Amino acid sequence: MSESDADLLHETIRQFRWAANYVVLNARNDDGYVETRKGKLNSQTYDNVRSETELHSNLVQAARSRAADALKSVVAKWKRGKNASLPYFSSPFLEYDQRSATFHDDHASLSTVDGRITADYVLPDDERKTPHSEYLFSDDYETTGATLHYRDATDEFYLHVRTKADVDAPEPRENGTVLGVDLGVENIAVTSTGVFWSASEFDHWHREYEKRRASLQQCGSRDAHENMQAVGLKETGRFEQLLHRVSNELVEEADENGCSHIAFEELTDIRDRMPGAKRLHAWAFRRLFSYVEYKAEERGISVQQVNPANTSRRCSSCGFTHEDNRPSQDTFECLKCSYANHADYNAAKNIGYRLLGKQTAGEGGAPVGVRLNTGMMNANGVKAVPTLVRAGVHGECHGL
Ligand SMILES: [Zn+2]
Repeated sequence: MSESDADLLHETIRQFRWAANYVVLNARNDDGYVETRKGKLNSQTYDNVRSETELHSNLVQAARSRAADALKSVVAKWKRGKNASLPYFSSPFLEYDQRSATFHDDHASLSTVDGRITADYVLPDDERKTPHSEYLFSDDYETTGATLHYRDATDEFYLHVRTKADVDAPEPRENGTVLGVDLGVENIAVTSTGVFWSASEFDHWHREYEKRRASLQQCGSRDAHENMQAVGLKETGRFEQLLHRVSNELVEEADENGCSHIAFEELTDIRDRMPGAKRLHAWAFRRLFSYVEYKAEERGISVQQVNPANTSRRCSSCGFTHEDNRPSQDTFECLKCSYANHADYNAAKNIGYRLLGKQTAGEGGAPVGVRLNTGMMNANGVKAVPTLVRAGVHGECHGL
């Protein structure tokens, strides 16, 4: 970058900061309240900033947006009863968007107070697996903007480029079908469609790693501590792999059944409610939930947690709730209507209904049915179009 281009950037940054600080200074209205709405701030300051600076109109707006965001967080602090002074922008920076800059693979064209300049990127030599190779050069990611920083210590400009996946997130589905998911110690997950993911593989590997740890502890070598850590890392890696697989299959199950929602029980304090659950289980459930959440989102499926109260004691067929409905850990048998089924499957259906009830009672619209392995049930318990039972899964079909 030439000396004169650098001077132009410095002057642009100076005017940008001036504009942002000007918006802050003019944010207080006559009645003493601080304005945070971008539209209002814009009409209060835009003309003056345009006449006082040589900034491109998009940079004027970017400075105003930046000021509005900072004002909002200060006002939010005041509302929480905390002390905070109005923002002041002192560090050298500048916000570009797609209209005030154009981003290419190896350079960017940036708007300044006197036309545009071209800035070549200085990138790491090794382009394998860098953020640049993954995002900047990839056709799958679109550049949405950048923040230009200047560092005095090195006398260098840094451009932090923001990208987003080019494939826009799909529209959320609104057909209102819920897949309920029950989590457990014996079965990691069970769906309202009757798919079971047994915890046996999970338990097997947990025992194996415990054994390895125990023998390391016994031999008590100098490296034992490091080896223990290595075992711990391997264990985590194996479990994460396993949970990724379960989450993929869970989301697939929701997708195949045309579900718009997946319901989990609330994960807070899950160990207190679940006999035999260790810290490892709570960790695994949280991990599984977050995997499912982001994978489902990519398909427009919303993932939510519901109140778990009584979901294991309530009859998913008639609604009768009693602790004696659970003669054993695995079995559910309704004292009132004699509906009998695997306890986890019964709970998964209840978790699905819980989200259904929440939605129909509250926000209006949204879910209308829980997907079951023999069909769909709506909030009134009416059986709808049957669906196929997935091959190779728990195939019981009675119960509606
Ligand atoms: Zn019943």
